[in-house]
Amino acid sequence: MSIFHALRVRVAQGTQFVADVRTAIPTGFRGRPEIKSTACGPDCEACVAACPTAAIKIDPVSIDLGRCVFCNECVAACPEAKIEFTAQPRMGGTSREDLVITAGAEERTRVRASEAFAKIFGRSLKLRQVSAGGCNGCELELGAIANVNFDIQRYGIEWVASPRHADGLVLSGTLTRTMRDAVRLAWDAMPEPRFLIAVGACAISGGLYDGASGVDRSFLDDVTPALYVPGCPAHPLTVVNAILDLLGVA
Ligand code: SF4
Ligand code: SF4
Repeated sequence: MSIFHALRVRVAQGTQFVADVRTAIPTGFRGRPEIKSTACGPDCEACVAACPTAAIKIDPVSIDLGRCVFCNECVAACPEAKIEFTAQPRMGGTSREDLVITAGAEERTRVRASEAFAKIFGRSLKLRQVSAGGCNGCELELGAIANVNFDIQRYGIEWVASPRHADGLVLSGTLTRTMRDAVRLAWDAMPEPRFLIAVGACAISGGLYDGASGVDRSFLDDVTPALYVPGCPAHPLTVVNAILDLLGVA
């Protein structure tokens, strides 16, 4: 390829990398929802009935981002237009409670920095991913955080091939019975200090498969995630920002 051809391709393609992942807003993305504080119609439970994952509760209306699959059915069902999905990718939490959105409390679902995590992992963080019954949606997006667009390596964060080299185990999928031992083996192989990140509705709550006969989430009875990253699938910007927020990166 001549230099002129290479330059022509470069001009045609423009800038591919996301220059500032902290402020980027993806187009056409269904991200952090907002709930208006206006009143519901009398006895209306249309959003609850429409939700496939029991993510919505009423009195007051709340959405659990750990269960939400961002399908938009609640928006279509609500006669009062109380719910709207913004394109904001920054959401997550260090506890399950932080993932529950109510009217006016959307900022609560932004990950708060941890001094301890910043001190230990702020300059170098190695991650190992295990798909425990995912559909490959979250897994594809997790792979993307290291591509040229999102380039998480610029922050000293990298995927590693072995759990023996990892600080954080990134779990996606609903945790099937057949993956129970593999998840445990990966976790047991990791050196201390180590922590768990649950990515996607499946890993956080079981998602659409919660309660299915092939699901065994007993690993999470012993190990509590330090970070929850919502989505179905989770957007790379949601993953990257949740990790950077936890590490206190500006
Ligand atoms: S967008 Fe989320 S809260 Fe709304 S119906 Fe779908 S899963 Fe339920
Ligand atoms: S959360 Fe959604 S995209 Fe991710 S593994 Fe589950 S079904 Fe697939």
